[in-house]
Amino acid sequence: MAETVFQKIIDREIPADIVYEDDLCLAFRDVTPQAPTHVLLIPKKPIESIDQIADEDAELLGHLWITIRKLANELNLDAGYRVVVNCGKDGGQTVDHLHFHLLGGRAMAWPPG
Ligand code: AMP
Repeated sequence: MAETVFQKIIDREIPADIVYEDDLCLAFRDVTPQAPTHVLLIPKKPIESIDQIADEDAELLGHLWITIRKLANELNLDAGYRVVVNCGKDGGQTVDHLHFHLLGGRAMAWPPG
């Protein structure tokens, strides 16, 4: 599997505006923000997409969701926020490393495009 841009960010081969890191995950600001706050949260484990999540990843996924809740609080998204995970071509996924978009700071439209 080719190394993704997100793996390069984990390995510090390319820079990113990192807002949170622990042993299991990394959060950084999206380079093309779609909202006043747009952060990407990724596991350090190179899972390609939702489709590649294994049963053994259940604890990791729980940690990611709890981290999202803490990040939203730290980033003052008190009025609400949206979490998006694109999967595959039709889902609009462009980087093959599982990532959660945390979007906030404006009212979101529904349905998404
Ligand atoms: P997706 O389309 O769901 O795969 O989302 C990939 C996201 O990664 C897009 O919102 C891009 O703007 C973002 N992105 C790509 N390269 C970088 C980078 N080097 N630093 C931060 N965000 C990036």
